[in-house]
Amino acid sequence: MRKKFLAFFEAKGHKVIPSASLIPENDPTVLFTTAGMHPLVPYLLGEKHPQGARLVNVQKCVRTGDIESVGDPWHLTFFEMLGNWSLGDYFKKEAIEMAWEFLTSKKWLGIDPKCLSVSVFAGDCDAPRDSEAANIWKKVGIGTLSVLPEKRIYFYPKSENWWGPAGEIGPCGPDTEIFFDTGKDKCGEQCEPRCKCGKYVEIWNLVFMEYNKRIKNQESRIKGYEYVPLGQKNVDTGMGLERTVAILNGYTSVYETDLFAPIIDKIKNQKSKIKNTNQNSKINEIKASRIIADHIKAAVMILGDEKGIAPSNKDQGYVLRRLIRRAVLYTDRLGIKQDFMSELADSVIKIYQDIYPALEQNRDFVQENLGKEEKKFKQTLKRGSKEFKKWYTKPEVGWIASTKDLQKLEEKAKKSPKIIPGDVAFRLYTTYGFPVELIKEIATEKGLQVDEKSFREKFKKHQELSRTASAGMFKGGLADASETTIKYHTATHLLQAALRQVLGKHVEQRGSNITPERLRFDFSHPCAMTAERIKKVEEIVNQKIQEKLPVTCTEMTPDEAKGQGAIGLFGHKYGEYGDRVKVYSIGNFSKEICGGPHIKNTGELGEFEIIKEEAVSAGVRRIKAVLK
Ligand code: ATP
Ligand code: MG
Repeated sequence: MRKKFLAFFEAKGHKVIPSASLIPENDPTVLFTTAGMHPLVPYLLGEKHPQGARLVNVQKCVRTGDIESVGDPWHLTFFEMLGNWSLGDYFKKEAIEMAWEFLTSKKWLGIDPKCLSVSVFAGDCDAPRDSEAANIWKKVGIGTLSVLPEKRIYFYPKSENWWGPAGEIGPCGPDTEIFFDTGKDKCGEQCEPRCKCGKYVEIWNLVFMEYNKRIKNQESRIKGYEYVPLGQKNVDTGMGLERTVAILNGYTSVYETDLFAPIIDKIKNQKSKIKNTNQNSKINEIKASRIIADHIKAAVMILGDEKGIAPSNKDQGYVLRRLIRRAVLYTDRLGIKQDFMSELADSVIKIYQDIYPALEQNRDFVQENLGKEEKKFKQTLKRGSKEFKKWYTKPEVGWIASTKDLQKLEEKAKKSPKIIPGDVAFRLYTTYGFPVELIKEIATEKGLQVDEKSFREKFKKHQELSRTASAGMFKGGLADASETTIKYHTATHLLQAALRQVLGKHVEQRGSNITPERLRFDFSHPCAMTAERIKKVEEIVNQKIQEKLPVTCTEMTPDEAKGQGAIGLFGHKYGEYGDRVKVYSIGNFSKEICGGPHIKNTGELGEFEIIKEEAVSAGVRRIKAVLK
């Protein structure tokens, strides 16, 4: 597959460039190389590439953001991306025609066109619908009635079919994604390529960088953006090696390919040697094996990279540590108790040594670090398991009685589940490194239930604390910080009411975040706000501040709140409020369901200023504002 891809594009005038390291060069904003375009950013921005304007390669990638999806048939943390690029050379027509030829020509992959469908950008306030791409697809075969009787071109918004910019401003553009239909039944009427049910798998993404997103009016303190056509238009594509190999072979997951089979086989083999103890009956063996295989591979690729990284407590080293630990944990859950990572690592190196020679050179480093980490984590794990056991055999939980037969106890427990308090579950997570889903899994197995609500609260607080700590939130001292954040909280209510007045009642909160320096508020609205409207909103909020309105709180039932026209998260999260809610009113101007706290009077707020208005995703805008 790798050879075919490179040969095809070489024949089309592309120069083969090597895979870059997994550790990005000169880029402190990301930990790992996540796509083939990543090392090419300077060239996509206009710098001349020494190899010319047509490039092709196979790039190793790590996406930690996909770790929670690992176990499904198609998402990996480590994968290889096949990519071709045009740096100001060809554009949509050639890019689509080449992709189509490579995929469907008998000389190359020979995929049946009936199994393919594509998505293109639907258009919005910033950029028009990509009819150009759609028309090219029709010409090459997709969507043409004579070739395919069904609709095969889907139009999706920015959230699905737009790339970039990498930062706030810069090159960006629509993309077109190619999907393979696995032949599975539709999950419902609405099932189409973007659906996550597994019927469709995205194999290739072609990005057309044709716009420069820039700040509209440099003089204005309010940031508005505009999308202007780029001088140099680029093509940037990425095709998943594992996914493509899997679908070509008619497999239903990437784990059946020869990039995984030897690793999965080893795990199966080892597992089959274990005499079945009841203990592990509940664990999803397929998912566990996939997680182990994926994580050990990613770990070996990071350790064995030309810039090899060792486990540590920060940055790449920390991600690596998490991957290894999670692999060890799931191995343990399968009942495999002996050290196993080294053997699996050998398997990984064997699969990849010809493609990535640094692996063989770093074999000792890989094995030594894996071994150390495995040993260390197993000790932690032992203590964690004790903590777990302590809980489910605790006399005060009620059902231990006097019998020593744990299995009987567990049976009994299953019939009347006991609750693990949130803080115990949370300790298992933070101190002992048990992944959240595993805590729940073991709990169910032992007839226990995790107190989800208090666990979630703890978890959220933990995340907030680490986020604010790293953002230097408490620089000015705790008391000071909290007073300011309360002010911003009240200002957020004023802002939302003002937005609904100026833009309309369709405005709903989509997110909110407060630091002692500013508020951030995300809300539903289809287009960028004009400078006049931004000014109007500012004026209204400042007017309400000057009116020195009292802020009052009343408790009532959710229905009463709704009846009084209070805004809040009605509908979806209703149940979480319980049967009584707090409603905060600011004079007659704003009424919102909210937990508080708030200041007593808007007169305390100072001057309100919007410093930024921007898009977050399709149909969602973001405002950042300060109190002076
Ligand atoms: P998905 O929506 O399926 O997660 P994506 O939109 O994140 O995919 P891109 O960022 O467009 O994918 O990456 C280009 C190609 O790389 C995809 O078409 C896919 O074939 C492959 N790919 C992306 N993420 C993964 C992953 N986690 N594991 C394996 N292959 C992947
Ligand atoms: Mg993805």
